[in-house]
Amino acid sequence: MDLTLSSEQSLLVELVRRFVREEILPLELHLDPDADELDPADKARLIEKTKAMGLYGLDIPPTYGGPDIDLTTRTLLAIEMSQHRAGLYAPCYGVFGGAGLAQLFEASDAQKEKYLHPVLRGEKRGFFGLTEPSGGSDPARAIRTKAVRDGDTWVINGGKIFISGADKAQFGLVFARTEPENGRNGVTCFIVDTDTPGFRVRRVVHTLRSAHYATELSFDNMRVPHGNILGKVNGGFAIANERLTRQRIPYAAGCIGVAVKAHQMALDYVPQRETFGAPLSSRQAIQWMLVDNEVDIRQSRWLTLEAAAKADRGESFRTEAAMAKLVATEAASRVVDRCMQMFGGYGVTKDFPFERWYREMRIRRIGEGPSEVQRHIIARELLDSPLR
Ligand SMILES: Cc1cc2nc3c(=O)[nH]c(=O)nc-3n(C[C@H](O)[C@H](O)[C@H](O)COP(=O)(O)OP(=O)(O)OC[C@H]3O[C@@H](n4cnc5c(N)ncnc54)[C@H](O)[C@@H]3O)c2cc1C
Repeated sequence: MDLTLSSEQSLLVELVRRFVREEILPLELHLDPDADELDPADKARLIEKTKAMGLYGLDIPPTYGGPDIDLTTRTLLAIEMSQHRAGLYAPCYGVFGGAGLAQLFEASDAQKEKYLHPVLRGEKRGFFGLTEPSGGSDPARAIRTKAVRDGDTWVINGGKIFISGADKAQFGLVFARTEPENGRNGVTCFIVDTDTPGFRVRRVVHTLRSAHYATELSFDNMRVPHGNILGKVNGGFAIANERLTRQRIPYAAGCIGVAVKAHQMALDYVPQRETFGAPLSSRQAIQWMLVDNEVDIRQSRWLTLEAAAKADRGESFRTEAAMAKLVATEAASRVVDRCMQMFGGYGVTKDFPFERWYREMRIRRIGEGPSEVQRHIIARELLDSPLR
């Protein structure tokens, strides 16, 4: 695979790099370390700027007004867009982010009118409700939330856990069991308005991240119209699977960007910091940490771009996306940890971004499917149809 950037890719990468340098880095100086997040007014301003640059909502197909940029280029931009202290805040990456709402492009016309178009206009937000207390790694078997048809409506009972953003959403995708004995072929995806009687955000689930928490939901005799099924009855798992596979590439890219930034900071720091009469950069122990960072970053970048290139060619990229997610999240965790070590006491203070990245990278080895699940996906394919 040729990793040389085309002239158009180089221009876009430079545009995003400048945007990060001129617009986001200055905001870091005033970031409240406890809030852990940009001021909403700053965020709104950045969104307007990325729109003006034509780089907002990169996950919107051109037919819906999004820019015509392939996944490989979007991956390169996502790597650039997370190279700042606010980390992983990527206003130019997409309006859907992790919420998986891109599945709404496959919705019926009436559903698009009610949900997709308001999302595109920034008027509505949604959530992706798959994981349940009974387990998220293998949701096809774990889903206990039940939907039973009653005339033109479905009555849903059950609950979800770890659902990001449901407390601020107007609707969400809720995956429920519609055929008890049919495993992955017995799950249906419902579009649920959060003001439906019986829908409740039971609690906010606080995690290592202070800003981006998750929620626990309960559904108590919640009636959802038949017309709110996304796709087909019992066809929900394929929707979830497609979204999970696709999301792994930008997820990996965000981690690589953080690793690149942390590594750059360490490369700048170690020649200046002296101990025992010599700069840290002269010590082999430090050099090897830098080398390991470089290798970790390059292999993550290679695997993630390979996954994106396969997706762009219309080939199956499930295994490659799993490899990208596995390698990038684990590599970025190691890189951030090494950089923290090289910065000594400063590394663990909130004056520097390492501790924030450290927490986020820890979550990233679990979110969107834990490392072991990615290995499980890769192993299954290796054993079923060996790769080369
Ligand atoms: C901050 C945050 C936000 C989230 N947002 C969402 C969201 O918006 N929507 C949503 O639906 N979900 C969301 N999740 C849920 C997330 O996808 C799940 O936590 C994840 O898929 C793992 O499921 P689980 O927690 O039930 O762990 P389990 O399925 O119980 O697995 C526990 C552990 O067992 C190990 N394991 C699992 N399978 C295997 C295997 N085959 N071989 C070996 N080891 C294995 C792994 O180490 C795993 O971490 C979020 C989670 C977090 C932490």
